[in-house]
Amino acid sequence: MPGLMKTTSDITKTNILGYTRETLRAKLAEMNIKPFIADQILDWIYKKFKLDFSEMVNIAKEIRARLEEAFEIRFFKNIETLESDGGRATKMIITLNDGKYIEAVVLREKKYNTLCVSSQCGCPVDCKFCLTGVAGFKRNLESYEIVGQILLANQLGHPISNLVFMGMGEPLLNYDNVFAAINLMNAEYSFHISKRKMTVSTSGYIQNIKRLISEKNYINLAFSVGHANPSKRVVLMPIESRNPIMEVVALLHEYQTMHNRKLTLEYTLIQDKNEDDQAIRELSNISKYLKAKINLINLNPHPKIPFRPVTTKRLHEVRDLLENSGVPVTIRFRKGDDISAACGQLGESCLG
Ligand code: SF4
Repeated sequence: MPGLMKTTSDITKTNILGYTRETLRAKLAEMNIKPFIADQILDWIYKKFKLDFSEMVNIAKEIRARLEEAFEIRFFKNIETLESDGGRATKMIITLNDGKYIEAVVLREKKYNTLCVSSQCGCPVDCKFCLTGVAGFKRNLESYEIVGQILLANQLGHPISNLVFMGMGEPLLNYDNVFAAINLMNAEYSFHISKRKMTVSTSGYIQNIKRLISEKNYINLAFSVGHANPSKRVVLMPIESRNPIMEVVALLHEYQTMHNRKLTLEYTLIQDKNEDDQAIRELSNISKYLKAKINLINLNPHPKIPFRPVTTKRLHEVRDLLENSGVPVTIRFRKGDDISAACGQLGESCLG
């Protein structure tokens, strides 16, 4: 894979990934290089997926040599891929330049591919039903490491049209880098993915939901509920103790009144923990208040997760209860659970 193996000696150079067209044009101007070269470089990287200046053959050799001296295209140290046997998902296990691991998953639909993107290496939020939480937190990803995941998927032959920030990490805890990456991936000189086709999932981090509101930064959100009842939610999601669900819901309501992007409630069903009729009624009430669709996800069992999924019969009963209460609901079927690529299963490679 061209561009994958970069040595640590490269790290002293400026990494060109993550530059916007404007910042790259300005940087080249400082070097007395014509601004249109920036457009050519970005075209090679984001449209042709070439990560080596020597391959950018419409740029003069002498300029390419100067670019080589000043910049690097720092990508990932190594990658491995695992295909799910139904061919519906590809897990990419990515070694970062500092040797840490992240994972991202291409989910194939009939007409388009979605990339489940990681925003952090591990996760500090520690949701008790999530393998990434068990793996613990290593660090935030840089914006180039987020953009690099989609670049890699494209290089591997999976053109991506939809993005969900539902891989490893809580995206709102890495706000600056996540939104820098979103803006770059949205740009027409880059992947040009509409923000309407990007969804940021959050466990409900109040400080940065407030920031979304104050900055009028509009994006599709998916809120991971866990349990609608605070005293039961805190057992599954410790974030509840400092980010009470009632306050989160009030802020989400305010946010939704400001724009027409989608809000989804993600609900992981766990046997004997959050699947009783009362819990489902409370979930329905939140959904009605927020006018949000519900995605039901049956827990993905794993030896390191101390819970069980519900039976298929109960899964359908819960869906019917919600539907009968008048809220839109879908069951998110697991893709790639044979390769630990399903929701809540990322992080296997970090467990050691
Ligand atoms: S569900 Fe999301 S926020 Fe919670 S531990 Fe897993 S990755 Fe982090």
